[in-house]
Amino acid sequence: MRMSRYFLPTLKENPAEAQIASHRLMLRAGMVRQGAAGIYSWLPLGLRVLKKIEQIVREEQDRAGALEVLMPTIQSADLWSESGRYDDYGKEMLRITDRHGREMLYGPTNEELITDIFRREVKSYRDLPKNLYHIQWKFRDEIRPRFGVMRGREFLMKDAYSFDLTAEDGVKSYNAMFVAYLRTFARMGLTAIPMRADTGPIGGDLSHEFLIIAETGESEVFFHNKFNDMSDNFKVSGDHATIVAEWTEPYAATEEMHDEDSCSVAEGELVRGRGIEVGHIFFFGDKYSKPLNAVVQGPEGPPSAVQMGSYGIGVSRLVGGIIEASHDDNGIIWPEAVAPFKVGLMNLGPKKEDCVEFCDKLYADLEAAGVEVLYDDRKDGAGAKFANMDLIGLPWQVAVGPRGLKNGVVEVKNRATGEKRELTPEAFLAEMAA
Ligand code: ATP
Ligand code: MG
Repeated sequence: MRMSRYFLPTLKENPAEAQIASHRLMLRAGMVRQGAAGIYSWLPLGLRVLKKIEQIVREEQDRAGALEVLMPTIQSADLWSESGRYDDYGKEMLRITDRHGREMLYGPTNEELITDIFRREVKSYRDLPKNLYHIQWKFRDEIRPRFGVMRGREFLMKDAYSFDLTAEDGVKSYNAMFVAYLRTFARMGLTAIPMRADTGPIGGDLSHEFLIIAETGESEVFFHNKFNDMSDNFKVSGDHATIVAEWTEPYAATEEMHDEDSCSVAEGELVRGRGIEVGHIFFFGDKYSKPLNAVVQGPEGPPSAVQMGSYGIGVSRLVGGIIEASHDDNGIIWPEAVAPFKVGLMNLGPKKEDCVEFCDKLYADLEAAGVEVLYDDRKDGAGAKFANMDLIGLPWQVAVGPRGLKNGVVEVKNRATGEKRELTPEAFLAEMAA
């Protein structure tokens, strides 16, 4: 993509409304713009990141055997009355009346709707297990939307729902999702720690939240420093139950669940920090299947209510979360897997014909090799170009100036480490295409 043709409205100054780094940087890097409190438009650069995160989430759900569906954003209130949550949900639910006076709502979550889909179609244990997920915009009328996309009112969520005949099988489905979550966050370059969670208004008995550690996180967290090591040397092997056991053995708790007295971690090994919740999984048995009468015929006996779990990931929150975990004073540092482009190519001699020609060729070669590249072909000065590249945080910056051109080399900078090297364009191309 040529920057001269792109839509990248960057800001030089810190916007006054942003209190935390990710919010500031997302506005400054031209990734999002606010439409109303907690409701954002995604501009081209931001949307590319959102889509990459979404795709990693999707691939790991698919790998775990979950099946993608797409449910609507608007739901009928009737189902929520059936489950008993229509009144309970309170003011966070955006309630809408259609022209016929029917009560509707903008979905804050989908347990009811998915259970309705399931109960209409599935009648026998032979069709189990099933896990259905979708990636869809949710609306929750948060009392205090803040921190940009981290606590929005409209936000993109992946939510999966598992259906099993027995609680024992339900726990197997839960474990499969637990492992999928570990893989998902590791692929994004994140240290996400599973913490036993309060089951809260969704209810049930087994639940974990996945939190990434960042100073600006909303929750206070306490965890064993073993997790740092496990994340740095991330690997999961063995069956799901073994992996879950391994990842739930070290102490980890959010402030609601932390208990000084029962926490037996030695003072020097306990890390106190702050965390951002990026995922939350529940096993809640027949909490919804019973009131909604989602029953299946088992191998013997009368039909029974299916055992369910639900599994959320905050896809849009992750964009902010990753920035919180990975930035410096100059801007964002994208992990390669979610970077909007892999390479930022800068022409430092945009008024010199040979420099333009050289850059145009390198740009064409990179594109032909399938490397995602953003090419700063504008007439701005070198200082502005470097500052802009640091701000938007592409993993590899490559600068071509008159001096390098004379020596037949380009200057390559690794955004994360700051390391700079001079390479021939051929060597650079080979490295990027590998
Ligand atoms: P929180 O405790 O942060 O309010 P929650 O427990 O209400 O979240 P869940 O219902 O578990 O959230 O939703 C699943 C995931 O969706 C969360 O783990 C989080 O990553 C994301 N999420 C929830 N609320 C928001 C929001 N207002 N803005 C952005 N992402 C959100
Ligand atoms: Mg939660």
